[in-house]
Amino acid sequence: MPRKNKSSVSAVENKGTTNDTEQSKSIKAEDPDNVKSESVLDLSKFKFEKKSRVKIEFENDSPTKDVPDKKGLWEPANWKDFLVNLRIMRANNDAPVDSMGCHMCMDENAPPKVIRYQSLISLMLSSQTKDQVTFAAMERLRSKGLTVDNVLAMSDEELGQLIYPVGFWKTKVKYIKKTTQTLKEQYDGDIPDSVEKLCKLTGVGPKMAHICMKVAWNKVTGIGVDTHVHRISNRIGWVKKPTATPEETRKSLQTWLPFDLWSEVNHLMVGFGQTICLPVGPMCHECLNRDICPSSDKGRKSPSKKSPTKKSPKRRKVKEIKQEDR
Ligand code: SF4
Repeated sequence: MPRKNKSSVSAVENKGTTNDTEQSKSIKAEDPDNVKSESVLDLSKFKFEKKSRVKIEFENDSPTKDVPDKKGLWEPANWKDFLVNLRIMRANNDAPVDSMGCHMCMDENAPPKVIRYQSLISLMLSSQTKDQVTFAAMERLRSKGLTVDNVLAMSDEELGQLIYPVGFWKTKVKYIKKTTQTLKEQYDGDIPDSVEKLCKLTGVGPKMAHICMKVAWNKVTGIGVDTHVHRISNRIGWVKKPTATPEETRKSLQTWLPFDLWSEVNHLMVGFGQTICLPVGPMCHECLNRDICPSSDKGRKSPSKKSPTKKSPKRRKVKEIKQEDR
């Protein structure tokens, strides 16, 4: 005869009324065989509980397994040494930003509202422009009285002549005029006091807004990441992964850099980028961080640093060909 398989037996045993079930329970309790069955079930249950405990103990024994990948807990190697060296290298305050940066472009004797307006205008001019050029343009503007009303009274041509040759000066004339009109109509000639509102002004982005909050309102709302801070942060490995834009760099830096350094790091890096860690040909030989910087000498085109093993065979080959030609 064919044997009943287990599932078919179970299906048959599971059929019955409620009374049948209760009767079955009382019989099982008295029947030694059924007691054995209960024991098997209990043992199975016991094993399951034990597995759970083992699993929990394993997790408790490995609390740091995923810590390096959790947001906010990563930080770059040697960053405190980098910072100390940056402070030493910047101690002389001899970079263009120190004497001609946006924070130096305002008329200190003007009313606070006018000083804040001038700080915003200097930041708008500074985009894609050297500090020396921005500073000179601001001096020309200030000589005409750099206020909301005076700028609105100027023609585009006159404003253009005053700010030339800052980068994208024609576009900036339009941005300055539009933003100044907005300030007149919506903010009583003052500037907004939040990053969100500043970013709604024509020609103002997050980088400008965060720096403006610090310079104009003395509030730290984020790290001001310009081209220098963006470039240097990637060179020295202060971003967890390479970043493509200053805004990405700002967000990455803010995940780990202590808040009380946010303002200082902009000032340190901008001047450092103007004097030593130059965009092209960084002067690594003068840099106190050269021994711990992952990009040390990588940006310099030094033939002596290239691997001779790759070049030598080609050069030999060229020589051999020339000799054969003779
Ligand atoms: S070692 Fe060179 S690349 Fe690195 S921070 Fe210094 S100047 Fe920049």
